[in-house]
Amino acid sequence: MTIDVSYLAISDKRCTVQFAGCNFRCRGCFSKERQKGGKTMRGKELAAYIPPDKEVMLAGGEPTINREGLLELIDELEQDRVILSTNGYLLDAELIDQIKNVTVHIDLKALNPELHRWYTGMDNRNVLEAIRLLYEKGLDFEVSTVYIPGIVDAPEIEAIARFLASVGDIALKIMRYVPVGDLSRRPLDSEIEEAMKRGAKYLDNVSSSIENRSHPSGERIIIVP
Ligand code: SF4
Repeated sequence: MTIDVSYLAISDKRCTVQFAGCNFRCRGCFSKERQKGGKTMRGKELAAYIPPDKEVMLAGGEPTINREGLLELIDELEQDRVILSTNGYLLDAELIDQIKNVTVHIDLKALNPELHRWYTGMDNRNVLEAIRLLYEKGLDFEVSTVYIPGIVDAPEIEAIARFLASVGDIALKIMRYVPVGDLSRRPLDSEIEEAMKRGAKYLDNVSSSIENRSHPSGERIIIVP
């Protein structure tokens, strides 16, 4: 029933819980939370630190690696809106049935299995199945893919859009890669626009993100004592 938590980030509208540890080893990961560590605590215990008037984002790291603790935390939250940001690998039918009221942001790092394995160290079959299940079970969700020039670029994103369309009417968000080491470079706006155009051939809802602000307005960080 425990989870490993790095910290809570609280801004004007949202509380983000940063879980520690991840089952992927993405080459482009910039999250310090992918390392194990953080504070081990009960989901119930953590819920007491989360202000009830804010939406909650559960992120990491990977929040699903301690399933029971995650479910205990979700059960304790009274928020109208809880968002789970996940790589999807552990999101099986049983877990999806237990989080029906949660909004899910699921990453699809690559459709090509070899590319996915090279980039994350893991197979993508579970992730593709999780996307199908989320759709079939009617959850509120979107798929995110990071545009990484020379690695996951327009043709791969078009293939992802084609796959999503074969499942159903699914929202796709194209995220801008933030350079880590010398893996790749920051994508141009024109490249993201081209990927969006290709995605829109198959899907009605294709969006992109301007780089995530690391400090939303009024943000403060709480290290859980
Ligand atoms: S799934 Fe996310 S946190 Fe985990 S290694 Fe990949 S980018 Fe990092």
